[in-house]
Order: sequence, then structure tokens, then C-alpha cells
Amino acid sequence: MSDDGTDPKDDRRPLTRLAQAGRRPEWTGMPGQPGGIVSPPVWRASTILYDDVAHLRKAAASSTHERLFYGRKGTPTAWSLADALTEMEPEAAGTMLYPSGVAAIGCALMAVLKPGDRLLMVDSAYDPTRNFCEQVLRPWGVETVYYDPTIGEGIAGLISDNTRAIFLESPGSLTFEVQDVPAITAIARDRGVTTLIDNTWATPLYLPALSLGVDISILACTKYIVGHSDVMMGSVSATEAWFPRLRQTAYLFGQMVSPDDAWLAARGLRTLGIRLRQHQDSALAIARWLEEQPEVARVLHPGLPSSPGHALWQRDFSGATGLFSFVLKGGDEKARAALIDGLAHFGIGYSWGGFESLALPVDPARYRSATRWEAEGPAVRLHIGLEDPADLIADLDAGLARFRAAA
Ligand SMILES: *Cc1c(COP(=O)(O)O)cnc(C)c1O
Repeated sequence: MSDDGTDPKDDRRPLTRLAQAGRRPEWTGMPGQPGGIVSPPVWRASTILYDDVAHLRKAAASSTHERLFYGRKGTPTAWSLADALTEMEPEAAGTMLYPSGVAAIGCALMAVLKPGDRLLMVDSAYDPTRNFCEQVLRPWGVETVYYDPTIGEGIAGLISDNTRAIFLESPGSLTFEVQDVPAITAIARDRGVTTLIDNTWATPLYLPALSLGVDISILACTKYIVGHSDVMMGSVSATEAWFPRLRQTAYLFGQMVSPDDAWLAARGLRTLGIRLRQHQDSALAIARWLEEQPEVARVLHPGLPSSPGHALWQRDFSGATGLFSFVLKGGDEKARAALIDGLAHFGIGYSWGGFESLALPVDPARYRSATRWEAEGPAVRLHIGLEDPADLIADLDAGLARFRAAA
């Protein structure tokens, strides 16, 4: 393996990469001493000291990437995490870290767009992504046009002379439509349009987005990378063509993460593979069970053959994670609240990706403009954590009984 992880002969499988990534000897050892520690420690720094004025001048005149320069440019703790995320994303030239997933999305869009440009945004996008388009990009002079997540090759008809970028999120994190990523990226490359994806649900472990032709892949690390519901963070990995510009934009906006947070995220990353496998197994078991319940109209989980996106999911993804929704048959807001409020093993809260289960009422109609959300009743989003799925099913069974009684 080469130091920068770009060895073309590197055939390590993803789980092996997860265990080894980001552990460069210069970040885990002492100069001039053999051996070293396993994980890069927390390097806290603002000021970096130079030997003399000549050293200071030389440092300022050369690249500051992955070199101690000033605290804002990071220390080995953050570089190690970024490097590990780059190793997890085939085709990535580098990764930048941000204090939240939303900061990562905003900064990636700012790196690509300029006033006068048009952005194509998937209609099922995470709600704050839409807010960024409307409240930051629009006043800045970038027009956002929303498109149907199932548009596939039809995206070609929406590309005009000033279309600069297409933003994807697959599956959508409330309604779980799967996008035809290779069809969209092939057309985008052909027309010179840049593609970005919010890959938080699948992570590069289950959807190697850049290998499917995406230029820029964004993760809310807050979710599965951290995995323990105790750190906010975002990351953006990009191809060789886009990474320098992405990095410069992050520097200009002063984006960085604390070394303590980077260290916690790196600790979470090591177990991503086994956590996702368990999230996947438990969520699929619960989704299949829900599908058979008379109170449930539909389960929105791409891993189920009944899901409209199942064929695309099977073709492009190597796994499913723990987040999905279901639509109730009839019933109102009050009946849905009766279901959720009495759950013993599900917290009620935003976010997801931690070890614990969560339930959330979702109302997708409020966040769409290019498509219409039509449903048989109210919807609930579940994040299936690492608890025993039998306990979660018993809990949901009692919840559906409460729903029935209240409906
Ligand atoms: C949570 C989330 C984000 C934003 O991440 P934060 O760290 O909360 O800012 C972005 N995209 C998706 C799909 C998310 O679920």
C-alpha cells in the first residue's frame, strides 16, 4: 500500500480497509523510533511553531494540505479520518471534513456553483438541503429546479446551457425512492454537468458512488460513521478533477472539525462494517414483519421486493442500512401519535445512524414541489438500532394495537 492509498494494485476488501485505513506511520509513531501505536491520537493545536523566519516563510509559500501549518488546516487526527474516508470511497482523490452534514452539503455546492448557474435538485432531498437552495443559493443568483427522483434518463430533458450541477440523494431519507445513479451520471458527464450525491444512507460501503460516475460524494458522518449519536460531522470526498477546488472552498470558509470529534468519528468508523450488517439484518426482518400487518399499507424499504426501487437497489447497492418508513392504513395524526408515544424501545427524535432505535412521524408532502406525495394514511420513519429485533417487533406490535384502538 502506498502512503496516499492510491496504489492501483490495492485489492483489499472494504472490511480490511476499515481496519487499516488512515493509520500512516507518521501519524501513529515517533520520528526516529521504530514501531508505534495503533490509532492516531488526539492532536490539539491552534498555533504551530516554526524553527525560524525562513521556515515560517517557506511553510506559507507551499501547500498546507496534510502538513502542520495552523490549527484551522487540521492536525493528524483529522487528516487520518479524512484519509480513511478517502480509502473507503473508490476513485476518491481526497476528503474534506465539516462540522455537520449540512455544512458539508452547503460547502460542496458552493465549490461547484456560481451566480447565473442552474442546479437540478432531487425532489426527495433532505429538507435542510432544500432550504440551503432556497435561502442561500437563490438570493446568490443560483436557480434550483427540482426533479422527480425516478426520472432516470429523463434528466437529459432538464439540462439547459446554464445547468452546472445535479444533486442526488438515493434513497431519499424520508420516502426511500432509489435513483438510477449510473444513468444520470452518464448523461451528466456527456453534457459536462457535475454530479453530487448525499450518500448518508448507504455510505460508500454499500454504494460506491464515485465508481458509479458521481463526482462528489457527501456524508452526514453524524449518522453511521460516528454511529453513537454523540458527534456532529460531515465529509465530502471528490474525484481528482474536483478535490483541489473542494479543498480550497473549505479553506476559504474556514471549515474544520475538532480533533476530539475526529477521533470519536474514527473510532466509530472502525466498526462501521459490522454495525451496518446488523442494522441491515434487523431492519429487513422488521420491514418484512411490518409488511404483513393489517394496519400497514406500505413499507418503504428498497430491500423489499415490493419496493418500486428494489431492482435498482439490487443492481447498484451491496446492502441496505437501518432506516426506512412505513405508511399506515387510514388513521390520523392522533392515532399515529398513539402508536409512537407508547413505544418502549424507540426514542422519538431527529437524526439516526446511532446504535439506538428511533421513531419519527414524517409528512413528506411538505417537502416536495416536482412530485406529489400520496399516501393511504400517515407515515412513520424508523431507525432500527442494535437492540434485539424480537424486542423491537413486540414493541411495534403493541404500537399497532394502540393505533387500531385510536383510529
Ligand atoms: C442528517 C442528514 C444530513 C445532515 O447532517 P447533519 O450532520 O445533521 O447536519 C444530511 N443528509 C441526510 C440524508 C441526513 O439524514
